[in-house]
Amino acid sequence: MKKILVLGEIRDGELRNVSLEAVAAARKAVNDGEVVGILFGNKASEFASEMIKHGVDRMIVSEQEELEQYTTDAYKQACLQLLEDEKPDGMLLCHTSSGKDLAPRIAAALKTGLVSDVTDIEGEGEDLVFTRPIYSGKAFEQKSMNSELMLATIRPNNIPALKKDESREGDVSSVTFDIKDLRTVIKDVVKKTSGGIDLSEAKVIVAGGRGVKSEEGFKPLEELAEVLGGAVGASRGACDAEYCDYSLQIGQTGKVVTPDLYIAAGLSGAIQHLAGMSSSKIIVAINKDPEAPIFEVADYGIVGDLFEVIPLLTEQFKKELM
Ligand code: FAD
Repeated sequence: MKKILVLGEIRDGELRNVSLEAVAAARKAVNDGEVVGILFGNKASEFASEMIKHGVDRMIVSEQEELEQYTTDAYKQACLQLLEDEKPDGMLLCHTSSGKDLAPRIAAALKTGLVSDVTDIEGEGEDLVFTRPIYSGKAFEQKSMNSELMLATIRPNNIPALKKDESREGDVSSVTFDIKDLRTVIKDVVKKTSGGIDLSEAKVIVAGGRGVKSEEGFKPLEELAEVLGGAVGASRGACDAEYCDYSLQIGQTGKVVTPDLYIAAGLSGAIQHLAGMSSSKIIVAINKDPEAPIFEVADYGIVGDLFEVIPLLTEQFKKELM
């Protein structure tokens, strides 16, 4: 494999870490070949060197107005023009809401395959093997791709970014695309976050379920998340009961997360919930029912009332960390 393009993402003025993880994945796949980074948006030039220092050889940036906010039409047109000009062997995107939207459209336009939600890449060239979760995370499959263009999306928090190398340098070229016939105009972006931290990239998540019992009941979880520098998540049970917003839902029909630490409080661990969090590195379950299925996937289990356990944990972590 000689050349791979990596489409990074800037969100809320910050380069998303998964962009650098996708660069690491590309480096694995391309070996000594070229990794070409792509960034769109008004901070694209600013973050170009960050991508280079993490393993990109050359950057293509565009600060064109139409690419400031993600829209399917504009990004698809820009990417197709880049693929036509660069003729790479592969392209990696981030497995984020926009990457999940864009990648299949590129694949369909070029009549090529796509491996989505990749958690690892091994091998080289035609022997490249992609690992991805299937059956709601209960199993992993390994796939290879024979198509002319290798297209894949990389799941956040799985392939570690390469260590920053301050001495790395590379060309940065700025391009303008011929973008037309846009069917979507973004007038305003309303964003709900959990304590300002993007759930899908959070290193620590404290998630609550129906056992939290009310909106007020989420307060102790928020306090613990704050002490740990993490985000609050929820089961669908808690969202359906209107204890919190659906933007916090984790699971098959919610967000897929892979934090270093996942604290699950007052949620039973239904299969649909596990689909979104079972790849977390360490899972701590707090539930007053010792038979709750969440204990089957937990590394540490605490049988008890979350309203007693969570404040104790918060107090202890405050002593340790603050
Ligand atoms: P429950 O199953 O009611 O569990 C509450 C738990 O809290 C119990 O185990 C109880 O022992 C414990 N508890 C109660 N009080 C306390 C206390 N004081 N201290 C400690 N523990 C306590 N669910 C998701 O989460 N995400 C999804 O994406 C999702 N997608 C779905 C898609 C489909 C098509 C379907 C059919 C379902 C989906 N679900 C999803 C719903 C899922 O099946 C479960 O219904 C839901 O996850 C249950 O939420 P829960 O664990 O909070 O509630």
